[in-house]
This record gives sequence, structure tokens and C-alpha cells, in this order.
Amino acid sequence: MFTLDRRRFLKTAAATVPMVRVGDSFGLSSAGVAAGAVPGTAADVPWQKTLRRIGQTNITEHDPAVLDVEAWANYWASAKVGAVFVSVTGIVAFYPSKVPFHRPAKYLNGRDFTGELNDAAKKRGLRTIARYSPDLNWGDALAAHPEWFMRDEHGQPLVSAEAPELFQTCMFSTYMTDYFPAVMREVNSRYDVDAHYTNGWPSFALPECFCAQCRQLPPAKTPAYWDKFNERLTTLWKLYDSIAKDKKPTSFYICNMGGGFHATPNLAQLGEYSQWFQADNQGRNRQDAPVWGAAQQGRVCNAVLDGKMATNVTGAYTTGPIRWREVTKSPAESVIWLSQTLASGMVPYYHVVGGENGLGEDLRWEKIGRDYLLWTARHDAHWVNKGTIANIGVVMGQRTQLFYQPQHDFSMQQYMDAVYSALLDGRFLFDYVHEDRLQLERIGKYAALILPNTALLSDEQCQQLREYVNLGGSLLATFETSMYNERNERRADFGLADVFGIHAAGPVIGRLGNANPYLARIERPHPILDGFSDTHWIPGAEFRVPLKPVDNPVLTVVPSYTAYPPELSYPPAPRTDEPAVVLRERGASRLAYFPGDIEPTMWLSGHTDLSRLLVNAIRWLAGAPAPVSVEGKGLVEIFAWETEPGFAVHVLNYTNPNAHHGWFSEFYPIGAQKVRFRLPAGRRVTRVELLRAERDIPFHAAGDSVEFTIPSVTDYEVAALYSA
Ligand SMILES: [Zn+2]
Repeated sequence: MFTLDRRRFLKTAAATVPMVRVGDSFGLSSAGVAAGAVPGTAADVPWQKTLRRIGQTNITEHDPAVLDVEAWANYWASAKVGAVFVSVTGIVAFYPSKVPFHRPAKYLNGRDFTGELNDAAKKRGLRTIARYSPDLNWGDALAAHPEWFMRDEHGQPLVSAEAPELFQTCMFSTYMTDYFPAVMREVNSRYDVDAHYTNGWPSFALPECFCAQCRQLPPAKTPAYWDKFNERLTTLWKLYDSIAKDKKPTSFYICNMGGGFHATPNLAQLGEYSQWFQADNQGRNRQDAPVWGAAQQGRVCNAVLDGKMATNVTGAYTTGPIRWREVTKSPAESVIWLSQTLASGMVPYYHVVGGENGLGEDLRWEKIGRDYLLWTARHDAHWVNKGTIANIGVVMGQRTQLFYQPQHDFSMQQYMDAVYSALLDGRFLFDYVHEDRLQLERIGKYAALILPNTALLSDEQCQQLREYVNLGGSLLATFETSMYNERNERRADFGLADVFGIHAAGPVIGRLGNANPYLARIERPHPILDGFSDTHWIPGAEFRVPLKPVDNPVLTVVPSYTAYPPELSYPPAPRTDEPAVVLRERGASRLAYFPGDIEPTMWLSGHTDLSRLLVNAIRWLAGAPAPVSVEGKGLVEIFAWETEPGFAVHVLNYTNPNAHHGWFSEFYPIGAQKVRFRLPAGRRVTRVELLRAERDIPFHAAGDSVEFTIPSVTDYEVAALYSA
């Protein structure tokens, strides 16, 4: 059962949101609060929600000379995709465009290449999405329309980083309201496409432009600028969507939302009007990127989409800090990325950059993608999710990601990855929760919420969290959570001071140079310290907000001290009354606040004590056992869903030397995973099928649950529970 006091929650929720009904089991769709809920009956399902696989050959300027259109369409049809992206562009035209400054692609030679691609796809029953790029144009456009382009602070036009003959267009200019709509309307007049998509816009970093229009805006990279950015994005989105709908009402416009937490649009806002979340998250993109980047993306989508379409673009080619656009990546890395896409509730989307593929230079990608997509096609019913099953929510603070200035080299991605790592270590079932979606009817399904250094929180958001706690919800927060308001202005004390019973006693303290970070002294036993024996000390963090003393602390701070020379390496003050954690229980609610930035310290040091401390704290916070448990050896990521046929438990096997760096080169199978799945009242299970192994396994009922064992997992396994 929930930690939340149900009757009080119902009363509050009913007062504010009359439609809310709270279910009996962790946000299953019957609860009406499920993340990812698919509304309506089959007849109401929009066309894009019926797509199970997407394919894209990204067309280069050279492709009209080398790409075999029939072979292209045959490949994607043979992989059973439901839709393909067809290039129109905006930088170069793949058809004879009449729009001024939409110059024909170099090797087009008068052909209607867009039309040929569209026809070949339609002939095979595939949906098509027109792909544009409104982000760049050429010198002749700059000469005729200097106002279309971004400028640096000296007034010079900004060029593309890799192709300096191209200039960056400004989203606040008439390029976006004159030129680009003209291209869209021309496409409408020529082709029957099902939707319109812009690549390359909005940009993955908030723009910094000094053109005449942008000089009227608040300074770039501030919350005030972000408001204007989101306003403009909404205006342009609605314009482009209306142009799409001029052709047919089922059509719509979507944009490239980038990957992870770094999206520049306010995702909560965008989730309301976007019919499809296109995550350009093609593979691990940093040297230190952990393997779970696609699953994390799925959780981001689930936080804002309410069950609408989401795709994660998987690059068949080499992604990472060094890229070769036309060379295929390792099959294992592609498969684990595609599997994460599926497990986290998104639609697999396989992407290859055309280039010389028409010449057959590297065709290894073909088999990797087709084999995987055809496997998914054999089990389509099980990818129709009704809602996630999770008892923990992790707040994703977009304002913190965009505007918080860490006082050190840690990135906010490291905070999120560190917490993610601990959640996987503890095999927890969790969702992300967007900071602008903290209404009780949304967060009421979670027994606990985690705030990983969510520094920027408005008074209203603090109040929403306070009400959640008053109704029995549990909270864990770290470091500077709530020290800033939504404008990135520092508060005198924590916005959540009263909730956690904490008060800041001064500015952030960090270690000096090579010094030891502070230690945490164990003052008394507590469940968050399970497994620590033979020690009074465990690691602290690199930085902390000093707190005023509290009664009966569990951990206290032993301040930072010299590491070298070792002669001086001892704590000058072995004991203080400064808390290193503050724990409270108020009714059903449990509260944990860590004043240190323990997540990135854990992430960078790899210290297992910090991981254990976080896992213990989350387990203590969540209280009652999770709705689904998966026990066994190995590093895995787990998703549980209510599906059309019943339920599904997805287990991704990350047990691999390359889980935290590089690429998977092969899989290392793990042994038996024992699953316990608590069923909602009135439901029973009639069959359990392993979709990757493609066979049934035995199961048995145990009280309100069903239990079964997955004998082993190589790359990925999905236990499909058929339910009556
Ligand atoms: Zn501008």
C-alpha cells in the first residue's frame, strides 16, 4: 500500500481535481494517475500511437547520385517499420523548390528526390514524416536577409561550427515565420506526408544571440530569457502545427527534443502540445557516459507525455566523443540501446546516415537493425503500455539543470547519473517527475520522492512538496535543494527548511585542494546505516551546506583536513555537532536530507559506502516493499508496466565491463532472477512468457502476488504476464 494517507489524499485531490481516482496499487491505470496512460479505446488511438518501429536514412546531398530508392524502401519495409522520415530540408532542397533561398541539393540534377522517397514508402504502406532543418542557410540568404541570422556580440553573423559556409538562423527572426512556413506550405502542396519534423531546432543549448531582435530580450541563459524562449517556441510550434493541419487534421508538427535532461524547451509545457517526443539521443555521447542513457531518456519522456508517442533515435553509426557517421557501431551497443528504448516505453527508431550507403561501403548496420526490429515485431502486443508501475519518483529540475551554477566541476548530469546508479544498485522501481508537475494527483502514486540537489524550486513547488509530506509522502533531498527560487535567486535559508527541520548555518563549504573531504561520524544505529560495521567513519562529500545542530543526530560532520603530508593527516576536530544527515519521521512520512553533494562524490570516487548509504536511505524512505521485486545477481535496470495483455517486467542486463564507459562489445549472461509481482485486486495471471527467450515459464500465486524465476538474462528479457 501507499505510504500516503489515502483518505486525506482523496479528499484533497477531489477538492482540486475532481477527475482523480486513486487506485489500490502503485499507479496502475485503474488509478487514473498512471504515468504513460493510454486514454480511450482502439478507435480513438491516433495513427502515430500505432507505430511500433521507425526507420530513417538521413539523406545527404550526395544521395540523389548514389542512393537506390527502391532498395532503400525495401530495406525499411523488410524491417517492418511503420514509418520512415523523408528528407525535405531547408538547408538544401531535395526537390525543385520555388521558395527563394531554398537552394537545390548539389547532386539533385532536377529530380524530385523527396517525391520519389515519399512515393516508394507510401507504395509499401509506410507512413512518412517530412524532415526539415531550419537552423542554417547560405551566404546569399545572409546578403538578402541579414535580419534572419544570429549575431555575436560584435554583430558578426554566427557560422556553423563544422561547415563555416553556412550561417546560423535566429529563432526570433522572420526566417522562422516567413521562410520556413513557405517551405512547409510548398511541401503540403506537393506531397502527402503524415507529419512534419524539424531537426536542428530548437538548439540543444539555449541560444546566445546579439541580433537586433535578441538585444530586446532579457540576457541569454537566465530564467527570464528562458520564459521568452519558451513563449517563442510555443508560438512557432502552433504556427507550424496549424500549417500541418491545413493539409489534413491528423497531421502535426514535431521538433528535435535532444537527449536526456539537457533539452532546452520546458518539457512539461511541451508535453502538453507535442503529439510525439522525438529524442535525438543516438548513443552514448560522452567518454564517461554510462550505458543507461536511452532508458533514462524514456523516463524523461514518461514524466511529461501522459502516454503520448515517444521515440529514441538510435544511431546505427558510431556515436560518442569521436564519431564516424558512416561506420557501424558494435552490435551489442546498438542492441542494448534499442532494448532500453523499448523497456522504457518508447518506440525503437533506427537511424543511418545515408552518405555512401547506397554504394554499399558499410552495410553491417542492415542486419543488426533488421534482426532486432523483426524480433520486436513478433511481440507487438506487449509494447502497448498503459502505465508504469513504480513507487518512487525522482524529481527532474529543468531549471536547476539549465541555470544552477555548481560551485565545482560537477555537472547536473552527474548528480542525476549518480542517483540513477544507486537506484539501479537497489533495483528500485522509479519514474521521473518534472518539477512543474508536482500536483498531488500526479505525485500521489509515489511512496517517496527524491530531490537530487534540486537547487531551484519556487515557493509554489515547495508548497506542493510540503502538502505531499503532510499527506504522508516521503522525501529525500541533498545539498542545495530549495536554496534558490525559480529565478535562480539564493534564499536566506532552504525553501524546505520547515519540512526537513533544517537550517543553513553559512555558505557552502568545500575541501581545499588535495584535502580529505569531510567524514561522517556514526552517532547511533539507524536503518540507513545497515551493513556498516567495524567503523565509526564513513565518507562525507566534497561540498556541503553547513547546518545548525539538530537533536539526536545519526551522522555528524568531521571537518575536512590535510591529506598531504601524512604527518598532518588526522582530523583536528574529531567530533562536532554539525549534522551530516537529518532524518525525521512525521506520521507515515519519512524525511531524509543530506547536506553534502553525496551523489557526484559517489559518482566520481566510486566509493561503495556512499552508494550503500543512498540505497539504504531510499529503501528506508519507500517503506513498504515495492510492487515488483527482481532478486538476483548482476547490474540490471528494471521496468514494470501494465500492458494491453496484462503486465510486463523488463530486465536489462548491464553487467558488463563497459557499463560505465565506452561500448558493450559482447554480453555477459546473468543467472536466475526471481520475480515477485503484486497484482491489483481482482486480477490474476494465466501465463508468463519470456519474450526474448521466446518460451513460457512456470509461475505460482503467492498471496496477492505471482512469483516466477527468469532462468537467465543475456542482453535483455521481458516477462510478459497475461492477465485475466
Ligand atoms: Zn537573434
